[in-house]
Amino acid sequence: MLLIRCPYCEEERPELEFRNAGEAHVARSPAIAGISDADFEAFFFIRSNPKGVIHERWRHIHGCGRFFNAQRDSVTDKFFKTYKAGEKKPPLPKAATAPVASADVRPAEPSGEPPRRRTTPKGDA
Ligand SMILES: [Zn+2]
Repeated sequence: MLLIRCPYCEEERPELEFRNAGEAHVARSPAIAGISDADFEAFFFIRSNPKGVIHERWRHIHGCGRFFNAQRDSVTDKFFKTYKAGEKKPPLPKAATAPVASADVRPAEPSGEPPRRRTTPKGDA
């Protein structure tokens, strides 16, 4: 069973006590009501979804109930670090796989053609 360390409870607990809450460090516009529909869509729905080391929000739903952030490898499920909400993103671990934005590359076509790159621009928050 995967154990996740809650930075508030300061102990490792079974993964069943936690819920993933999506990508961490997504900046919300201070004037959210005034942004365009396209910008709101990008803020609300579009995520980088990389393959490799990622930063995610998690919630200790069956514990203290608090949100925190985690640095995790999306390929191996290894948690490198968990840290309190509001703390800065930690540097990448030395042995980590560099993140690769999977949204940029589609799987190979059944015809054997190489993967195509997406042409839509990505918003950087
Ligand atoms: Zn907790």
